[in-house]
Amino acid sequence: MNRTGIGWDSHRLVAGRPLVLGGVRLESEVGLEGHSDADVLTHAVIDAVLGAAGLDDIGTHFPDTDPKFKDADSIALLEESARLVAQAGFAVVNVDATVMLEAPKIGSHRAQMRERLATALGLEPSQVNVKATTGEGMDAVGRGEGAAAIAVATLHPS
Ligand code: MG
Repeated sequence: MNRTGIGWDSHRLVAGRPLVLGGVRLESEVGLEGHSDADVLTHAVIDAVLGAAGLDDIGTHFPDTDPKFKDADSIALLEESARLVAQAGFAVVNVDATVMLEAPKIGSHRAQMRERLATALGLEPSQVNVKATTGEGMDAVGRGEGAAAIAVATLHPS
């Protein structure tokens, strides 16, 4: 039986931090604040695959109180999550994600994000879709105060 999981995350945008989304560093004067590299897209994908496998969540496996995960490369955490999912007896069928960010536009980086996320999951880029939208000037995303991401993952028994 296939299983579905959902992941959601948000981080504040602040000066003096790198902007990393889906493992890709973007040119920006502001970046995401967090204990790890704060890659909001990768965090949503991690929660989607862990959730689909019934393996709790990102905070359980990679607590932000643990100095080990300070400035952690979230792609490495996704690789570890993929190992946990495989260990639990599942293979990822596909992932679909949406990044919510006012600026910069990520369109030209989407292919690279798909590639990086797919590689971490042991998948083809065709199995990992990345979309982007803005907040249309409304809410915290729209005001440029932060970024958010949502993802869904489908698994089948391996
Ligand atoms: Mg996060």
